[in-house]
Amino acid sequence: MFALHNQDSVTSARAGTLQTAHGPVQTPFFMPVATKASAKSISPQELIRLGTEAIILNAYLLHAMPGSGIIRELGGIHQFMNFEKAIFADSGGFQMIREKLFIGISDKGVRFHNPFTLQREHITPEKVMQINMDLGSDVAMALDHMPPAKGSDDMILAATLRTHQWAIRCRKEHDRLKSEGASLNNKQLLFGIAQGGTSKQLREKSAAFINSLDFDGHAIGGLATGESKEEMYDAAIAQLAILDPAKPRYLMGVGSPADLVKCVAYGIDCFDSVFPTQHARRGTLFTLNGPIDLTKGKFQKDTRPIDESCPCETCKSYTRAYLHHVLKAEKYTAFHYLSCHNIYFIQDLMSEIRKSIADGYFNELKKEFLGKYQSAKQPIKLP
Ligand SMILES: [Zn+2]
Repeated sequence: MFALHNQDSVTSARAGTLQTAHGPVQTPFFMPVATKASAKSISPQELIRLGTEAIILNAYLLHAMPGSGIIRELGGIHQFMNFEKAIFADSGGFQMIREKLFIGISDKGVRFHNPFTLQREHITPEKVMQINMDLGSDVAMALDHMPPAKGSDDMILAATLRTHQWAIRCRKEHDRLKSEGASLNNKQLLFGIAQGGTSKQLREKSAAFINSLDFDGHAIGGLATGESKEEMYDAAIAQLAILDPAKPRYLMGVGSPADLVKCVAYGIDCFDSVFPTQHARRGTLFTLNGPIDLTKGKFQKDTRPIDESCPCETCKSYTRAYLHHVLKAEKYTAFHYLSCHNIYFIQDLMSEIRKSIADGYFNELKKEFLGKYQSAKQPIKLP
């Protein structure tokens, strides 16, 4: 299921393969976010052409619309969206506590208004596993309770303990449903999520607990939500020291180029984030010399591509001047071109990272990449 092939000799970076029912995913890898089975401004087939081997969507939101039963009838999530590569399904813990429709949370589950029908719903760990059976996702994520980044210690402790109890229930229900042959994908994997806020002690305890439940992989959740970078790295490092190194380790919600390089060095295998596409829509484009803000007037007559070394379709075809114009004149068209570049940039970076780990020069690549990306004169705040 997961095999490690190379371990960097200087850092904790590692390269391997995660086997799924829809093919292998080379690790470390980055997943674009397709929350409702659709990435913003990019089609599933384009994501593949941009170098994507796995995406993440949201089980709960697809249950809310169009309905997991309908997706099952239509042959499952891969057929529904024509994406025959690995699909992770997040549980919805993140959305449930952040959306305006949230009503309440208890040890039993989460209560909220369905955002499409406005009917009251009660989502439990068991229900999330049932939805995943209908979707036929490759990796189901356990339901977790993500505490707010600036929550009190008591709030974070309660959310972490609840996450543990829900992890046990997800594990049990997933085993039961799979043994009954209920899943459209009988090779579906289940990942547990560790929480713990920014407390090192609680992070360690949570990692040890989640590690004990024999999940197929482990996620570090609840980070990249407003804490400082140092707090994020420290929390991730604390859990990496405890999580089983023989299983894939997924840092949820992280996706800036610099963070990807740094966190691969800590030993992370898997990432997801809306960061590249969200920033593209704001006009922030990644280049090897750091991000640029294409909305600035100085690009009005700039005839260079976004990044001169990038072979993506956007960079091969259009100048900064033209993209600057389209962003003002036809923003939805620009979102497509710009999102494609940022996703390509990230997938190409991950591919270079994998190669460098295999060939023993990851640390050099890390230094060179961060040196250029972070030291260039930044016209905007570094992502
Ligand atoms: Zn490009």
